[in-house]
Amino acid sequence: MFSPFPYYPIKASIIKSVINLCKRVLGKASKKMAKSPKKNKQTSASNVLTRDQHNVSRKQMSNNALKVLYRLNSGGYDAYLVGGGVRDLLLGLAPKDFDIATNATPEQIKDLFRNCRIIGRRFRLAHIVFGREIIEVATFRGHHENAPDKEKLCQKTSKQSEDGMLLRDNIYGSIEEDAERRDFTINALYYSAKDFKVHDFANGIRDIDAKLIRLIGDPETRYREDPVRMLRAIRFATKLDMTISPETEAPISELAPLMANIPAARMFEEFLKLFLSGKAQLTFEQLKKYDLFRYFFPATDQMLNDGTHPHIERFIVQALKNTDSRINNEQRVTPAFLFAAMLWYPLQSHIERIRNGQPHMSPQDIFFAALAEIMSEQQQSIAIPKRFQAVMKDIWILQEKLSRRDGKRAYKALEHQKFRAGYDFLLLRAEIESTPEDDELQELAKWWTDFQSTDNNTQELMIKSVFQTRTSSRRSPRKRRKVRETNSSDNG
Ligand code: ATP
Ligand code: MG
Repeated sequence: MFSPFPYYPIKASIIKSVINLCKRVLGKASKKMAKSPKKNKQTSASNVLTRDQHNVSRKQMSNNALKVLYRLNSGGYDAYLVGGGVRDLLLGLAPKDFDIATNATPEQIKDLFRNCRIIGRRFRLAHIVFGREIIEVATFRGHHENAPDKEKLCQKTSKQSEDGMLLRDNIYGSIEEDAERRDFTINALYYSAKDFKVHDFANGIRDIDAKLIRLIGDPETRYREDPVRMLRAIRFATKLDMTISPETEAPISELAPLMANIPAARMFEEFLKLFLSGKAQLTFEQLKKYDLFRYFFPATDQMLNDGTHPHIERFIVQALKNTDSRINNEQRVTPAFLFAAMLWYPLQSHIERIRNGQPHMSPQDIFFAALAEIMSEQQQSIAIPKRFQAVMKDIWILQEKLSRRDGKRAYKALEHQKFRAGYDFLLLRAEIESTPEDDELQELAKWWTDFQSTDNNTQELMIKSVFQTRTSSRRSPRKRRKVRETNSSDNG
């Protein structure tokens, strides 16, 4: 007969140790729960959408994000998918990443996951690492004015600058407070894997339907707390094809100078999000419209505004277009290429100034002096990691190398590790800088296009023909064309 309590001959000592283990585990868990944040009574209620009222399905979620949600829930904590993960699924888009919010503190999260590391000082959070996928878990944030005085004094948890900028944001709170601390209404949506409900704390679903980017709370205060929210407003409007609501848009121009306080390392991260998501061209136009581009590339911005350079705007726009189309075709891109493009003409202007001031310096020394100047100037705005600086330098150096093709030089350039990037950069320059009167760059680019894809013998002939063309360059245009025709029939 079936009995719910089958008999096993277990020794009393084993039973005792199991009971002790249970006591220890339960004791630890209840201590943890006691430490978990208290609910704030002043917070607003959410609109709740049951599973049949929304299209957010677990099938579209990362398995690792689900694992984290389940583990936190079974550890006795509240846990929700929040932000872009919910917003994008509601919009029928594939989320870029899956962020989780919980009432467990970073230390409590660490106790639950072996693959967890705690990161950030300004904003502490837990990263749960699954190979290449990282699930970001943030503890519910609370309001700083609600923090106990002792905590306010403790700069580890809360710190604000004179401008109102939050230098530390580690005051924990309830889910309602957390929702109020999020940036935009469409980002304050929480999905529970326990009951599959979506909690909408700030009318985010209404704004998703109206395609509106709207800050939660008083826009000026929220921008002062974190000026990067100005960039985020632009990023989401561009990414999601939405409009920034008038009250969210209004303070941007006046508060834009607060961007100068953002650390260069954070600007690098924001640059990647803004320019490597497949909408770089549109983003660039929006950043210029709100006068925010200058905080990324001051020298470039100045050149764009003084209108003295004939090609710079078209050059940058074309580089961004190319980047967008590569990303949208799932081809690889390196931020170094964009940095090289953004700073190419400012670099030329440094070179010119140094050359004029010190005419006896060698072209190579002038280049390296200009390089050092531009890099140190640019690092004030964006902390470009060394590995990308090295690629930028290679791309720029290759521009000179690609123009000198005699002897073994062409082969050496072809073998250069960054040849492809240098060649793509040359194509871009040729496309923008060539004119019907001056098509030298266009010819050079075509030469390299042909050179890469032909056999050794033809390559030899092509190198020889460079000299003939060079000698003939002093001849009349008609004779020059003739030599070119002869060369190309040789190559054919
Ligand atoms: P995506 O990942 O597609 O870029 P996202 O909305 O998920 O968009 P994240 O940067 O991943 O953006 O941030 C996750 C969530 O954290 C956001 O949706 C938002 O709720 C909150 N958040 C991020 N940055 C801020 C900020 N500066 N101020 C307030 N809340 C923020
Ligand atoms: Mg995200």
